[in-house]
Amino acid sequence: MNDYQSPVPADLPEKIQHYIDGELRDSAEGGTFEVLNPVTNEVYLSAAAGTKADVDLAVAAAGRAFETGPWRETLPRERSRVLHRIADLVEARGDRLAELESFDSGLPITQALGQARRAAENFRFFADLVVAQADDVYKVPGRQINYVSRKPIGVAGLITPWNTPFMLESWKLAPALAAGNSVVLKPAEFTPLSASLWAGIFEEAGLPQGVFNLVNGLGEQAGDALVKHPDVPLISFTGESSTGQTIFANAAPALKGLSMELGGKSPAVVFADADLEAAINATIFGVFSLNGERCTAGSRILVERSIYAEFVERYAAQAERVKVGLPHEPGTEVGALVHPEHFEKVMSYIEIGKDEARLVAGGGRPEGFPTGNFVAPTVFADVAPEARIFQEEIFGPVVAITPFDSDAEALALANNTKYGLAAYIWTNDLKRSHNFAQSVQAGMVWLNSNNVRDLRTPFGGVKASGLGHEGGYRSLDFYTDQQAVHINLGEVHNPVFGKAD
Ligand code: NAD
Repeated sequence: MNDYQSPVPADLPEKIQHYIDGELRDSAEGGTFEVLNPVTNEVYLSAAAGTKADVDLAVAAAGRAFETGPWRETLPRERSRVLHRIADLVEARGDRLAELESFDSGLPITQALGQARRAAENFRFFADLVVAQADDVYKVPGRQINYVSRKPIGVAGLITPWNTPFMLESWKLAPALAAGNSVVLKPAEFTPLSASLWAGIFEEAGLPQGVFNLVNGLGEQAGDALVKHPDVPLISFTGESSTGQTIFANAAPALKGLSMELGGKSPAVVFADADLEAAINATIFGVFSLNGERCTAGSRILVERSIYAEFVERYAAQAERVKVGLPHEPGTEVGALVHPEHFEKVMSYIEIGKDEARLVAGGGRPEGFPTGNFVAPTVFADVAPEARIFQEEIFGPVVAITPFDSDAEALALANNTKYGLAAYIWTNDLKRSHNFAQSVQAGMVWLNSNNVRDLRTPFGGVKASGLGHEGGYRSLDFYTDQQAVHINLGEVHNPVFGKAD
């Protein structure tokens, strides 16, 4: 027990339940799991642990809602109105959402608020897109018209991680619903609190009963049952690459539609001609914001040799000043990691790093926080490419800095991991930046920028970082079947088989 606490939000639910066919329910088999407060690691809540029985009920409800059509057959403009109402409600409840998210996940409150706003934007974006997007039409004058008819697919299984959980859920829910599907959401077991707000939001916004269903529980039980359910034709998953491999294998027998947003170990490459001040500020933010629990974190910084010593010194000094604090305090820049298991994983990487490289900032618990999942922003310099802290995703406030001597070496280092999610490039040389962007193995590249993404652009990784891209119309592509219809306007041109003599 420590002597510092985050205030417990008023009116916390007594327990977290599933939401199936418009009703809150306990697990069919009665199981529960414990949810921990990341500041104290005390159990503060119990949540229903879903099993196959609950997933079966949820999928059946979602399937009925889909077949009977109250949402699937709703005109796009009416669906759009409901999605805008959802966005309004998320915005109106932003403070509450941020309070719950921060309490449950350890995310700094100001950053949790930003994520709540982004969740509302996701709904607003897909509300607009679903009415703006026209079906494709291709004409061959006098001969043929071809059009593409987009159809919702059915029950979408959505499986989400514990980092910025509410926002990442919105990222899947908004396009899946915009396209007219029914959904079953399985949120991460470390952070089920904010997801419990969706049911009230959707009911108030007028989403028909059974279209949204929520099953809490462990990945190996509830998640596994959802992936294997024969009436769930598509799965959108965000989480670790190793979990992605399991899901890929489990979805293979039924050839399900899959979208996978997986892990990363993204490089930030700083050339000697870069604006050093901007590069340091952005690369500090890029790895320490969201507690470093960010898939696109620039967790490997590659720095040109001629500025390396200065960069490392300034970077380490600034990292030491990053404010670790209680998640609810507005001045906190790094809060508490989500769970003691994850905290132990991050701390074990810090110990590995001490053997592999030169520690220049942090290196363990921050002063004043002897308990709870607090980690001081930690910087390792002179990290060799074969080091584990260079190769493996740590998913915490830990960064590896490595020098390079040439553009070719920078590129080889950047591409030298199994991941390929994001890359950040800092240089004022236009040709070099674009050439580097073309050659780096990453689904997303930022030039002289931190991680700011226009919602119309594709999001996703290559190599072990993912499969497929969501974002903008690509999300609607994933959540719809695109049927091509060909209409003959002229002569029938095929050769006549079996012609009478
Ligand atoms: P995780 O893979 O442990 O769990 C993610 C979800 O999958 C959870 O809901 C979990 O219960 C479920 N799950 C686990 N095993 C399952 C199984 N066998 N079948 C079905 N579902 C299963 O990931 P995590 O630790 O919650 O999240 C952190 C990871 O997510 C990091 O690797 C991070 O990089 C990645 N991530 C990627 C993106 C992206 O867009 N690329 C975004 C955020 C997080």
